[in-house]
Amino acid sequence: MPAKKSSAAKRLAAYRAKRDFKSTPEPTGGGRATRAAQKASKLRFCVQKHLASHLHYDFRLEFEGTLLSWAVPKGPSLNPADKRLAMRVEDHPIDYGDFEGVIPEGYGAGVVMLWDRGTWTPEVPDVGEALRRGDLKFSLEGVKLKGSWVLVRTGGRGRDDRSWLLIKHRDRWAGPVDVTKVGPLSVKSFGDFADILAKDVPDVWESHRPAEGGAAGKMLQEIIEQAAQIKAKKIAGRSARKGKSKPRTTAARGRGRTKRSKAAK
Ligand code: MN
Repeated sequence: MPAKKSSAAKRLAAYRAKRDFKSTPEPTGGGRATRAAQKASKLRFCVQKHLASHLHYDFRLEFEGTLLSWAVPKGPSLNPADKRLAMRVEDHPIDYGDFEGVIPEGYGAGVVMLWDRGTWTPEVPDVGEALRRGDLKFSLEGVKLKGSWVLVRTGGRGRDDRSWLLIKHRDRWAGPVDVTKVGPLSVKSFGDFADILAKDVPDVWESHRPAEGGAAGKMLQEIIEQAAQIKAKKIAGRSARKGKSKPRTTAARGRGRTKRSKAAK
């Protein structure tokens, strides 16, 4: 959908103000993906599973040159009986729709997984008007999420303006299935958080982790340990292929075991 560049840039001001692009791998926006999206006839959507200070799912719909964004703590549900809280957050650049990786520090520090992606179609004649009214009906054509959905604003105007609910409509794609449990992995790299982290564990996390305590802290701790094991296995595999048995391999295995037994306590 063609978009006015100036208004898209304006709507990304909050996104850019929160980030230091020298220290985050997240897209600045305005790249090739943005130009491609402007030419494409279909609107894109994506859902990113984001383990930061808390685990949540970022639900994003392309509209007029940016991605409208909501943070959904429990993630989307295929069950129409579930009304999932969705907090409207700042618009994100179109390029963000392909982003997956590790944010080492700063805003949103943690691991981002591309959990679903595809295209969306508004079921209302005017998306801008639907957003103002707080009632946006649409259908999704993703890998995991399909069929008809609605985002409804709960608080009306004012302080609660950011609270919405994401609800699945009854159709053939609805059902009593916990899609976050059935389909937990990436649609881009096909792995889990640990696989993403194994490619790039930031040094800064040695002293300061994005999530220290609580459920997210425990989850991050486990993922860091799994990532260390994946890395150790890769190193061991490389050494074995070379026909060498380096002491480093044994050490890496030993480290993995120590960490596992510690975690079991
Ligand atoms: Mn997020």
